Amino acid sequence: MSHECDDALEMMYLYIDGELTQDTAETIRFHLEDCPPCGEAFSFEERLKLVVRTRLQEEVPAELMFRLHSIIRSERNPD
Ligand SMILES: [Zn+2]
Repeated sequence: MSHECDDALEMMYLYIDGELTQDTAETIRFHLEDCPPCGEAFSFEERLKLVVRTRLQEEVPAELMFRLHSIIRSERNPD
């Protein structure tokens, strides 16, 4: 994974929340479009956030997000 991927994944959450400056948001968007693994991670996060937001209509507790991520991670990488 490149340094750009690290940055993109780190900024992804801010990007989803619309908290980046226009320049930074654009950089991230280009990377997500160019880089399939990051693009996939992004669409997953975006969908997850949307679903959770729609269901709960409020911020998701950090612990729940953490659990969801662990479940997803263990499904993707069984060991
Ligand atoms: Zn990437």
